[in-house]
Amino acid sequence: MVAPSERLFFALWPTPEVVAAIQQLQAQLPPNLTGRAMPVETWHITLAFLGQWPVAQRPALLTAAESLSMPEFSLTLDQFGHWAKPRIFWLGLSEAPAPLFELVQQLNTCLQPLGYQPESRPYCPHVTLRRDVSRIELQSLPRVTPIDWPVSSFCLVRSMASGERTRYEVVWRFEG
Ligand code: ATP
Ligand code: MG
Repeated sequence: MVAPSERLFFALWPTPEVVAAIQQLQAQLPPNLTGRAMPVETWHITLAFLGQWPVAQRPALLTAAESLSMPEFSLTLDQFGHWAKPRIFWLGLSEAPAPLFELVQQLNTCLQPLGYQPESRPYCPHVTLRRDVSRIELQSLPRVTPIDWPVSSFCLVRSMASGERTRYEVVWRFEG
């Protein structure tokens, strides 16, 4: 029998104020952009993507994440970006604060004994706003009015395929 598993990732979840600010920004985008907009309730910044993980390991995962020291900091969303290969259009940071990198580093370190393979690419925090975007003229977009995002917790999130869409469910919130 195959052990039941779930698709998991750690993420920062935006406050209602941040969501409202991103919505305002999104309303200024040209209406003819290609791809599809990600629903508001999916917006997040991934910290560590675990992928498929045995359900039986969830307690160990929670214990590991509880053990790290959560710093309080704030980050500023201030630039749009596009990655051609995954075809995503995103909102990100021109300068990520050190505590954010430290948080990712702490997660990588505490999850490794559980079998987690940290991402080898440099960490590039972003909120995916649209998918299936093959091309976009970033220069023609309105300037981003910087959005301040206060961070005092992070989440373990379950990713669930439902038809064509993926839904995310916050499983656990880790506070400082
Ligand atoms: P789908 O893959 O069903 O289109 P999705 O990409 O939104 O949906 P997941 O693949 O479950 O959902 O990913 C959850 C989060 O983790 C997303 O923010 C995604 O960009 C990020 N992610 C997925 N795969 C990786 C990876 N290999 N490395 C880093 N982050 C990843
Ligand atoms: Mg994916």
